[in-house]
Amino acid sequence: MNNHASRVYSFTAGPAVLPMPVLEQAQADLLCLPGGGASILEISHRSKVFEAILDEAINNIKQLLGLPEGYHVLFVGGGASTQFATIPANILGKEETANYILTGTWGKKALAEAKLFGKTNVAWDGKADNYNHVPADSELNLDPNAVYTHITSNETIQGVEFQTEPASAAPLVCDASSDFLSRPMDVSKYGLIYAGAQKNIGPAGAAVVIIRDDMVARIPDGLPSMIDYRTHIKNNSLYNTPPAFTIYIISLVTRWIKDTVGGLDAMQKLNQEKAGWLYSAIDGSNGYYKGHAVPSSRSMMNVTWRLPSDELEAKFVTEAKAAGLWELKGHRSVGGIRASIYNAMPAEGVKALVQFMQEFQTKNG
Ligand code: PMP
Repeated sequence: MNNHASRVYSFTAGPAVLPMPVLEQAQADLLCLPGGGASILEISHRSKVFEAILDEAINNIKQLLGLPEGYHVLFVGGGASTQFATIPANILGKEETANYILTGTWGKKALAEAKLFGKTNVAWDGKADNYNHVPADSELNLDPNAVYTHITSNETIQGVEFQTEPASAAPLVCDASSDFLSRPMDVSKYGLIYAGAQKNIGPAGAAVVIIRDDMVARIPDGLPSMIDYRTHIKNNSLYNTPPAFTIYIISLVTRWIKDTVGGLDAMQKLNQEKAGWLYSAIDGSNGYYKGHAVPSSRSMMNVTWRLPSDELEAKFVTEAKAAGLWELKGHRSVGGIRASIYNAMPAEGVKALVQFMQEFQTKNG
């Protein structure tokens, strides 16, 4: 049976769509990795073949982001949520302060964990407007002595994304889970960048952590080995058994971004185009579709909007599913519709959604 034929366009927030050539490569090599003698699921993480895969994943990320000297790329288990606590455990002393800028649900979760380790200063909180925009620099109440400023570059649930970095004297620490490698980044502004793999770069099972030497120098002795970033730096992410399959797929996805798409400028251009079609459909609907994020804070990855009633939203989701457009129900905290259109979502998927939106409005407007 050719099960490709039953694939739909899935707009899920994550784990999410992967590039078709990557899935095909993984399928072709699943029973025996070239030169590996067995499947990626069966070989030792200490084998030369796996080490080459790990090194490729790391080097692709370095190349794509143009990482300056002094940054380390790590793969760690536990997803982005484990990083919410691991970061302050490593770089926030008990008597020190970290700024947190809250632009949605995930930033609030990160803040709650940091409070377990040191002092926190909420430099801005978008709650009053139900997290529909990012702050202007002039609105930030940054503690000038803070050791870092934490942001969530893209809030997956609200669909709100920083278009440029906020001005901060302290190094930025960024949860880039839902927009990692979707566009170029000025990495020099960041002391630490982290991202769960399962949206833009691979399946679930790992987080990528990019950490700069001055952050590493802050790490106190006495942390458990698996929590201490120095353990993973020293062992090239091979201190224990890493999530090997996830890293393998990351190596293929990053290769696809580099060689097929043509790098992060090209990736950004494709993403801007796809998001542009959806936002134009919203803006061109005479108010039938209402975007959640204010236009200047709109996410290129997660597009969120409402319909005139809860009933119409439910009907939209059901009928879209019947048309092969799955997972469009918004997160319960925002309601409405959310279309996650990460790097690997094909243009055809977004075009099909736009057409469905127009037809739905004509029938139900
Ligand atoms: N941060 C952001 C921005 C996210 O979107 C998510 C997952 N939806 C997380 C953190 C949590 O990631 P994980 O499930 O890998 O812990």
